[in-house]
Parts: sequence; C-alpha cells; structure tokens
Amino acid sequence: MSGESIQSERTDSYFSESIAKISEFLSGIYDDPSKISLVASNCKSSEISAAPLNGESTDNLLEELFARFEHNFCNVFNPAYFGYISPRPHPLGVIGDFLALGVNQTPGAWRAGPAATKIELEVLAWFRHLFNIPQPDSEFPGGIFTGGGTIANLIALKLARDAANPDSKINGILPSCRVYCSNDSHFSIDKSIDFLGIGRRNLVKISVDSQGLVNLEELRLAIESDIEKGYHPIAIIGTVGTTATAAIEPIRELSAIAKEFKCWFHVDAAAGLPYAACAEIRESMKGIELADSITFDPCKWMFMSFGVGCLLVRDGRRLFDSCSAGGGYWEDKEELDLFQQNLYGTRQFRSLGIWMLLRGLGFNGYRKLLLNVLDCTALFQSLVKADSRFILLEKNSKLPVICFKTANMGIEKELVEYCQNHNICYPTLLNWNDEYYLRFAFSNYEISPEKVKSIYQEICLAYDRLSQAR
Ligand SMILES: *Cc1c(COP(=O)(O)O)cnc(C)c1O
Repeated sequence: MSGESIQSERTDSYFSESIAKISEFLSGIYDDPSKISLVASNCKSSEISAAPLNGESTDNLLEELFARFEHNFCNVFNPAYFGYISPRPHPLGVIGDFLALGVNQTPGAWRAGPAATKIELEVLAWFRHLFNIPQPDSEFPGGIFTGGGTIANLIALKLARDAANPDSKINGILPSCRVYCSNDSHFSIDKSIDFLGIGRRNLVKISVDSQGLVNLEELRLAIESDIEKGYHPIAIIGTVGTTATAAIEPIRELSAIAKEFKCWFHVDAAAGLPYAACAEIRESMKGIELADSITFDPCKWMFMSFGVGCLLVRDGRRLFDSCSAGGGYWEDKEELDLFQQNLYGTRQFRSLGIWMLLRGLGFNGYRKLLLNVLDCTALFQSLVKADSRFILLEKNSKLPVICFKTANMGIEKELVEYCQNHNICYPTLLNWNDEYYLRFAFSNYEISPEKVKSIYQEICLAYDRLSQAR
C-alpha cells in the first residue's frame, strides 16, 4: 500500500483544501456556464475503470472528476438549457444542502436530529404561507419531505387507499379500487398505482382537450359507470403544471367531483406549486387549498438540486395513521419522530437547502426570480406567436413552458437536434396528442430578455437553414 495516499487518520489536512477546489470548480460553472457545451457527452468511452484497491490522493481524484464532468455534462447552468424542468441550482440551496450532508443530522427522528426536525417543520409552515394554503387541521405538521415527486405521489395514494378503507393497512388493498386522472398526468402515478398493488388497469385516464384541460363530463360518467359495476372510486388526481405543456387542470371542479363521490382529492403540483407564490398565478390554481394532499418538487421551480420532494396533507394525522410503525429497537420516548409520518426512516436533511434559500432571498427575493423566469417566457411566447414560421401550442396557464410546431414543415425533430448539436439552445422534442412540438421549459433564474432575444434569433436562423435545405 502506498502510505502517503492513506488519508483516514486526519481530515483537516485535505478537507478544507478539497472544499476550496470544489467551490472554485463550481464557481467557474456558475460564473461562466457557456464554457461547457449544453450537453457534452462522450457516451462511447464508458469503460469502467479498474477496481480501486489502494487509496489515492484526493487532489488527483478531484482533478479526474472535474475533467469527467467537463466532458460529460448536462449544462443546466446555461440559460439556453430548456430541457424537462431541470433548474440551475441556486447556490443558497447548494450551500444549505452541503452543510446538511456534513452535519449528518436526520430529520427522521428527534434524537438523531433535533435541530433538523425543527427546521423541517419551519420550512413546511413557510410553504403554506408562501403558497397561500391554510395551516393544517390537526396538531400534526401536515407535510413530509421525500426524495422527489414520485414518492410524494406514492404516499398520497397510500393515504387515499387508507382513507377509503382503514383496514387495508392490515388486510391489503380492496380488489375493486379505482383511481382517476387525466391522460396528461405524470407517469409516477402509473408507477405508484402499481407499487401499491392497486394495479394499473384500475387507473382510469380521462381525455384532455386541445388546451390540455381534462374532460369533466367524461370523468363523471366514468365514475358513475364504475360504481354501477361495483368498483370503489377512491381518488381523483388533478395536475397543476402538466409535464407536457404545463397546463393547470380545473382544480376546483375536480375537487367538487371528488367531494361528491367521497374520494380523496390529490393535486400533483410537483412542477407548478412554486408559482402559487405569485398571486396572479395562484388565482388560476383556485381550489388547491381544498386538496387532501398536494405533491410539490422543490427541485423544479424552487431551484433546488435534484432529489427533494414534498407532500402537503390537509389533515396531518392521516400521515401518522397511515405510516406509523415501531419495533423493539426503537425506544418510544414520545418525541417528535417524523419517520412515524413518512415512508422513510432515516432520510437526507434536504430541507436545510430550502431553509437557506427562503431565508437568504426572502419570499420577495424568491418571487423576483420566479417573475423573471415568467417574464422571459412571456417574451419568448410573444416572439413565437408573432412568427409565421411557427405555430404556438396555446395552453391555459402562464407556467413557464412553451411548446410550438413548425408551420407546414414537419421539421420539429430536425430543429430540436440542430439546436442541441450546434449548442444554440437545448429544447426537447415533445410528442403530444400525436403531434410533435419543440418544448422549452424555462427554469434558469438567470435568464434575461436579451438572452431570450438572441436565442430566438438563432433558432430562426437554424429554422431557415433547415427549411431551405429541404
Ligand atoms: C417531476 C414530476 C413528478 C415526479 O417527480 P420526481 O421528482 O421526478 O420523482 C411528478 N409529477 C409531476 C407533475 C412532475 O412534474
């Protein structure tokens, strides 16, 4: 073994130096994201390196890693990146998350993270203020953090299952449960239905119109016909910010139907909820405060790094009733153990990054970032709409996703690839209602109107070039 490479005895010799190097590397990307291409990928050279039998110096490892990232990178830092909803992570969030990793406190159990537990409760209460959702009915916090929107949706549907039949916690699921959502709902709903044992054939998908709005009459008929056949409708799901077009489904109407048929009403607002912080857009989500549960992904328009989700629940006791469990290895000291309200036991302390962001910017500073993204999206939309080369996909919401087709040319796929390969910008190709669109999700808070105009000009040049080549 090479003695000099063994670093386990002392940390102080390399810890702060390595952190300084990482911070220099990251600052370089934050300050000048254009020095790495939008998507640099070397997927052909994917050999697995030799198994690491002996230790190596941290310096060498960091150098190798920095090089790897530079050559294989999805550059969400660049304002010309419009893929999915993958934000440039806000440095305040990264700083908070880094501290959280270092102190290793889990908010899952009071004794393993008392300050962490309190910070989580604080952040959950702030969310309700920020998004104008009433504080929970019970003495329970009425919310949990998860690893993403998928798990939040899974837990929401478990609450729905248990609300319909409290017995199913012991005896398993009723075979005749039915859940309703629109064709545009996220695939995590399909996965959750399957994971809960409800079975995908019991997820009923309702059609949407050309603006992405769910057909309420069809929903009502589907429920009535299912009841006649002996099924038990247990949940209706509405989406705030559909993944394809960022439409906002008619939440109030869906909530009324859920109430009428005594179903759990879940709102999947993984993408859209952050925009409830802006009064004008909150208006278009009216009724969301009536939801039994709401999924929300801070790693989308809250500009956090990937892998943090949240579920807000109107009656917080439901989380406890559905998720509590124990064992002889856990002394119950009647402390506030959040694992009793969550699927997770030990869990990352991701709310610290959010705490840092919300305190560091204040609600007002955060709103400014949201509004800048919104203004730039509106500018881009007006350019597309006024241009006879393109056909805008009209939707009912202002959420910052823009989709459009090329007029009569059918070159959506070519244009997306051209923009990506020539480092112009990174839209994605959307197949929606059997038509292709270029999809632009604005999620970089550093975008500016000047940048939008220059990107748009380049897209037009690319279009002209491709259409002339036809
Ligand atoms: C992103 C998203 C999800 C899934 O979230 P993950 O964090 O990827 O698990 C679910 N629903 C909607 C509407 C989303 O936009």
